Amino acid sequence: MKIITDERCAGYSRYGHPENPRRITATLARLKSQVELPLVWALPGEVSDQQILRAHVPELLARLKIPQDFDDDTPFFENISDYARASVAAALDALKAARNGEHVFSLMRPPGHHALRDRAMGFCYLGNIAIAALEAAATGSQRVAVFDFDVHHGNGTEAILLDRPGVAAFSIHRHPFYPGTGVADAGKNCFNYPVPPDATREAYRATLARALDDLKLFQPDLIAVSAGFDAYVRDPLGGGILELEDFHWLGRSLRAFGVPMFSALEGGYSRDLPELIFAYLKGVEAI
Ligand SMILES: [Zn+2]
Repeated sequence: MKIITDERCAGYSRYGHPENPRRITATLARLKSQVELPLVWALPGEVSDQQILRAHVPELLARLKIPQDFDDDTPFFENISDYARASVAAALDALKAARNGEHVFSLMRPPGHHALRDRAMGFCYLGNIAIAALEAAATGSQRVAVFDFDVHHGNGTEAILLDRPGVAAFSIHRHPFYPGTGVADAGKNCFNYPVPPDATREAYRATLARALDDLKLFQPDLIAVSAGFDAYVRDPLGGGILELEDFHWLGRSLRAFGVPMFSALEGGYSRDLPELIFAYLKGVEAI
């Protein structure tokens, strides 16, 4: 298992904000102290403007350099443009590693699945997974699927990938909930699986299983996973109901497709995040 990460991504923070550096530093400590799962570590490389501009308008790249908050959830930070680009670069490197037959996880912040074509929102500045999916489609993959199990709808991914050829998006999320979208399928290629707030764990798992069945019908030749861990029962933001073993099952189920697959961290705000990620990685390795 390859982990693409850069501890410098912990270098920005706002006091009290749930998307905090500890998410990464605590996970790094957990992964480095374990011996069950052999890990290979890699730093992210670079991303070109051209790769980003498949997904975003040029004005967003300029806006990321203006020192002004984007919304209440999404502050401006010094050098946030560089942090966001490094997170995209890690997703692109994860794509390359997956194509080389490696099992790979991008452990970076900021997350990306709420970033719209023209706007940062929801702790997200650039659409890491959407950019990587479009890169995959532009460089030889015929049927690229994004599978997003973050508890929030991947509205940015959907907005970017909507009706683009060669790609599809599957998002399983709580609804009604932030950001309020994802009630029904969108366009020809964005499939949504809203789960009501009062759903049982069994019902949530059944919805995830239904999305996995539909993913199978799509016959992807590459899977890009938006790995959010905020559907966890003790997540302070997500209001979810899943348990640790459900994330292990997700990793295992996605690996079972037998096609190149990579994952990038989205949400997940509980103190148990390192354990949840570790369980997911073990699932991907089927141990
Ligand atoms: Zn989330």
